[in-house]
Amino acid sequence: MTTPARNVAVLGATGSIGTSALDVIARHGDALRATVLAAGGKVDALLALCERHRPDHAVIADPAGFAALRDGLHERGLATVAHCGDEALVELVSSDACDTVVAAIVGAAGLSSTLAAARAGKRLLLANKESLVLAGELLMQTAHESGACIVPIDSEHNAIFQCLPAAQLRVAQHGAAQTGGAQPVHPASQPGLKRILLTASGGPFRGRTRSDLGQVTPEQAVAHPKWSMGPKISVDSATLMNKGLEVIEAHHLFAVGGDRIEVLVHPQSLVHSLVEFVDGSTLAQLGLPDMRTALAVGFGWPERIESGVGGLDLLAHGRLDFERPDLDAFPCLRLAFEALAAGGTAPAVLNAANEVAVSAFLQRRIGFLAIPALVEDTLAALPSTPASSLAALREADALARRHAEQAIGQRA
Ligand code: NAD
Ligand code: MG
Repeated sequence: MTTPARNVAVLGATGSIGTSALDVIARHGDALRATVLAAGGKVDALLALCERHRPDHAVIADPAGFAALRDGLHERGLATVAHCGDEALVELVSSDACDTVVAAIVGAAGLSSTLAAARAGKRLLLANKESLVLAGELLMQTAHESGACIVPIDSEHNAIFQCLPAAQLRVAQHGAAQTGGAQPVHPASQPGLKRILLTASGGPFRGRTRSDLGQVTPEQAVAHPKWSMGPKISVDSATLMNKGLEVIEAHHLFAVGGDRIEVLVHPQSLVHSLVEFVDGSTLAQLGLPDMRTALAVGFGWPERIESGVGGLDLLAHGRLDFERPDLDAFPCLRLAFEALAAGGTAPAVLNAANEVAVSAFLQRRIGFLAIPALVEDTLAALPSTPASSLAALREADALARRHAEQAIGQRA
């Protein structure tokens, strides 16, 4: 890279995206440096990463892990400073400790740190899609006001970013805005864009009917055919809620209504998404299913840098198939479109109920089909109200969690 070295905070460093991000960072020792590493609770895994990457700061969310982190860093003779909790993370992300933030915490737990990175005008490599679903307008507006540039780290949205000139312009203007020059263009301007085609692998249960899905286990649900990911997003892929969350994510990132977003099941997972323009052109981005490509785009843009991912041999793959999603077997996708259309607090309620339901499914407290049932029930019980503030969204999130937990209790 010819740009100055980036100091990177990796939030969710022990997870699937965090691991991929650190792999790309390690390939560019002169241009990228991991200065902050944050994780939820796995102190040993975080310590091992600190030994390998020598960050200035390490943050553990769970207070019970703080002493072990501090002592472990000391025993290893590392100068890394130990911190704990969300407040410490928000402070670090907002400080000079980093100029680039990989937001890869799973779930609504990532909202405060993601918002802080946006407020502080950082380059934000945004994998934590739940924060966009929960507070997308606020997050995009915050980034616009601070001049932060968001590069989506979801393979579909990263593909769209690579195909959409207006999205790239915002990143190109980011440097200028930080040095007091031009403000980035507002995300609401996507001239000539007709619609977005989001591809979906279909998950491990593609082709099954609703009646086939009653008895599926967490092990089967997390065994994704194409991507290796954390447990929550893997279950979301199996229910198609992941694609529903991504529809809402695309709406916020690219300022398009749900009526201009179409989902196509593409089992090979090689075409990561497409954009159609008013002149009849359709652009797509293709590549092997490996998140290091999206991360390298995020770190390097507008330059292209090595990611460790090989090129695509289309002759070896042979064919690309596309199908319509089955909304009867996978109602979560329909529920997400409905929540987006309802607006206000509905997407926050959808997201919170889904997080509770997925966690209960992974703990074997409910069956697979109870996930959409709980989300639908929670949306019906908590009709949308205007999402006037962050406090209103957090309140909706908390109410939805409580409602979904109670409903699970009643089922037991
Ligand atoms: P994961 O479960 O593998 O990792 C989650 C990380 O978050 C872990 O490091 C964990 O310690 C950390 N964490 C959890 N709770 C925390 C808290 N309260 N505070 C601080 N850290 C916390 O998940 P993943 O698959 O890497 O996904 C991370 C995010 O990226 C999710 O929002 C997911 O939807 C998104 N995403 C992932 C992929 C993928 O390929 N894995 C693709 C697209 C988007
Ligand atoms: Mg995705």
